[in-house]
Amino acid sequence: MTMNFVYQALPARVIFGLGKLEKLPGEVDLLGLKRVLVLCTPYQRDEADRIAAMLGERAIGIFDQATMHVPIELAQRARAHVIEHRVDGLVTVGGGSTTGLAKAIALTSGLPTVAIPTTYAGSEMTPIWGLTEGENKTTGRDLKIIPRTVIYDPSLTVTMPAMLSATSGMNAIAHCVEALYAENANPIMSLMAEEGIRALATSLPKVVKNGGDLEARSEALYGAWLGGCVLGAVGMALHHKLCHVLGGTFNLPHAEVHTVVLPHAVAYNAQAAPVAMRAIARALGRDDAAQGLYDLEVTLGTPITLAALGMQPPDLDRAADLAIKSPYYNPRPITRAGIRALLDDAFSGRRPNP
Ligand code: NAD
Repeated sequence: MTMNFVYQALPARVIFGLGKLEKLPGEVDLLGLKRVLVLCTPYQRDEADRIAAMLGERAIGIFDQATMHVPIELAQRARAHVIEHRVDGLVTVGGGSTTGLAKAIALTSGLPTVAIPTTYAGSEMTPIWGLTEGENKTTGRDLKIIPRTVIYDPSLTVTMPAMLSATSGMNAIAHCVEALYAENANPIMSLMAEEGIRALATSLPKVVKNGGDLEARSEALYGAWLGGCVLGAVGMALHHKLCHVLGGTFNLPHAEVHTVVLPHAVAYNAQAAPVAMRAIARALGRDDAAQGLYDLEVTLGTPITLAALGMQPPDLDRAADLAIKSPYYNPRPITRAGIRALLDDAFSGRRPNP
């Protein structure tokens, strides 16, 4: 078979390593920023205080209201805040929720962002934004919202609780998995995706056992970076669509939903994407991709049922209806019966068949 692909590189400067947070003031200067706003969730306020102190006069304040799925009212408040305080750049410290707030601000203002990720969600490497209005989550792509600089410092991830580490890591693995069978998959992204799965599958059990293991934290964050890169560069499929529906409509927690659904979405696509399945299995050191992912989750002790996340049996029909609503690419055709069966398996946490 001859090769045939389009590869679009995305702009970003990445600084990776233990203790690299110290580079932040220099990186802010490199972008010529003089009035930055530090964004965080209320929970990570102490971290944001430390970062604002490092920035000295370059930081004009902290906005500590970031929350999951970026409610539109929050985005509007934050946008008004940056205008009122003549902010010329953003610094984020946190997970996908905090990065997402910076993206919502950048979408209307074009302000540059320096992102300091503290989970494995990978949003910092993507041009994807999301905003929520009531039950409806809207997403889109816009190159101007990609953080200009990303500082990955594994020491900032040691405070991540074991379960968030495990589920956030599975979220990153999910990006890599779907990149391998994406409609616009390409050889570079597939290399990164397989390496991302390998790095995360190797390190996450160590991270869950000992959150202070800096070597494992470093490898997991490296895997998360790869996951973010591939998520930003190629399209996703059934798994991400389902998680979007379940998270947005039923308000289920993002990383946990990704964790529970992933082995079942992979089992659904197994016959239709054999090359991707072999890459996933190889990266996991297992014979079967779906079973390998399921067993990894059992080892990590994550939730494995939608029931455990608070989903109710009557929601499954509605979720299946929503998941087939707008057509989208998937290696195996989407059928209502197939999706309903997948949701049933995920609801009860059945081990996928080989
Ligand atoms: P999160 O950002 O919501 O963080 C969860 C909680 O953990 C927060 O309270 C946060 O403050 C805390 N936390 C984060 N890092 C911590 C650390 N190191 N130590 C202790 N506590 C820490 O969770 P998430 O899973 O990173 O992000 C989920 C959100 O990101 C969702 O809204 C999802 O849709 C979005 N997302 C977007 C993209 C994209 O490309 N646009 C990609 C992935 C996720």
